[in-house]
Amino acid sequence: MGDIIRLTAAELAEKLRSGDVSSAEATQAHLDRIAQVDGDVHAFLHVSDHAVETARDIDARRLAGEDLPELAGVPLAVKDVLVTTDMPSTSASKILEGYMSPYDATVVARARAAGLVPLGKTNMDEFAMGSSTEHSAYGPTHNPWDLDRIPGGSGGGSAAAVAAFEAPLALGSDTGGSIRQPAHVTGTVGVKPTYGGVSRYGAIALASSLDQVGPVTRTVLDAGLLHDVIGGHDPHDATSLTTEWPSFAAAAREGASGEVLRGLRVGVVKELPDDGFQPGVARSFRDALATLEAAGAEIVEISAPNFEYAVAAYYLILPAEASSNLAKFDSVRFGLRSEVAGGTVEDVMSVTRDAGFGPEVKRRIILGTYALSAGYYDAYYGSAQKVRTLIQQDFARAFAGVDVIATPSAPTTAFRLGEKIDDPLSMYLNDLTTIPANLAGVPGISIPSGLAHDDGLPVGIQFLAPAHEDARLYRVGAALEALLVDAWGGPLLDRAPALEGGAR
Ligand code: GLN
Repeated sequence: MGDIIRLTAAELAEKLRSGDVSSAEATQAHLDRIAQVDGDVHAFLHVSDHAVETARDIDARRLAGEDLPELAGVPLAVKDVLVTTDMPSTSASKILEGYMSPYDATVVARARAAGLVPLGKTNMDEFAMGSSTEHSAYGPTHNPWDLDRIPGGSGGGSAAAVAAFEAPLALGSDTGGSIRQPAHVTGTVGVKPTYGGVSRYGAIALASSLDQVGPVTRTVLDAGLLHDVIGGHDPHDATSLTTEWPSFAAAAREGASGEVLRGLRVGVVKELPDDGFQPGVARSFRDALATLEAAGAEIVEISAPNFEYAVAAYYLILPAEASSNLAKFDSVRFGLRSEVAGGTVEDVMSVTRDAGFGPEVKRRIILGTYALSAGYYDAYYGSAQKVRTLIQQDFARAFAGVDVIATPSAPTTAFRLGEKIDDPLSMYLNDLTTIPANLAGVPGISIPSGLAHDDGLPVGIQFLAPAHEDARLYRVGAALEALLVDAWGGPLLDRAPALEGGAR
């Protein structure tokens, strides 16, 4: 059984197809792993009590000769920001404790239709605000590489579940880096698709112009397989693109040969100098660039002068949109309601929101409301939108000369739990390199680039491509992954110390 949980989703899918393993066995193996390690990791807020039943149903259909989709029978962890009819959806907030949605998020519905088996809902920062999962109202998730460290955020639960072999695949959401930064600190793969490439219908909104749902996996191919399932036009999402997307799994398979790196122009942003990063992160990034160069890629210095204003612009646009999106938690329509004897509707609303929202959520609502108020709108929100345009122009100029842009996925490796929780600004700076992609709507991938020489923790390299060119990221990501895994003598996650003795 131990071996089943170590398989990639692609490998497991193959074994399911050939009949070597049943979905019920694979699902039970992951549930056993969750029972064994999740007391320490706390990746899950809720574990499904009918996953095995769902798996048995898939097995029966397969036995009956039905032609099932490629990932049918493979277990999947779902970030709690995505609503589900059969499990509570809380966005890790007290205000939604126990909330049952009347419908499934489109990505969840598509995953079910493809035969994936939802295992449970994963932990996150409350309403996806944070970079460490410490802002969850239900307690933090721990990094499987070192249980005293953060798993990244906001999607720390999904990344930790995949890194701890509790699930082969997970869904995340990325508004400013919440898929890519957790991937960076846990040695996993995370993709933020082009804005509009994956439906946001049923993703509890943080900042609607920035949010994207995407895959969290252990390999680039697995991310492509999951992206193929969840992506594509959705009439329920007004910003959903009607683009005909190529197969991202096919792109990953094509990339694995490494041919794609020959002559590939990789842009490196000169305004993001080495000394802005932890030495172990900067060195791992340089080494990855050297690997790309040795395989025939050309490293080109580019200028993106407005990237340095991205974090500042983001922390006006995001709170502005969040303050509006979160207004619906009014004690009447959803979730928590704190009664106030003899109180007015306003009193009930105020007491409920005070009890239901955590400190980071309140901070952002206040920030956003302030930025949108009549006297300050132009100075703050208006200026931030102008910076957003400048960042989009930076990307457009850069992509005229390069095929992809590469950056470290985050400035440091996993920090200790508690280290930044009282210092919002240092928490916000974790997303220095991930936020520009959300502001511009372009796709990004983070793949492991190695372990930092200074603290032995995982580091990720991020690739960014022009909008609609997600397939390019899968080709390039798979090519570099193949070279690195070869050089390491096996996947990075085989070396995660906190997992030793686990299910091996
Ligand atoms: N860490 C960022 C924030 O706190 C990103 C969040 C996200 O992508 N959901 O807003």
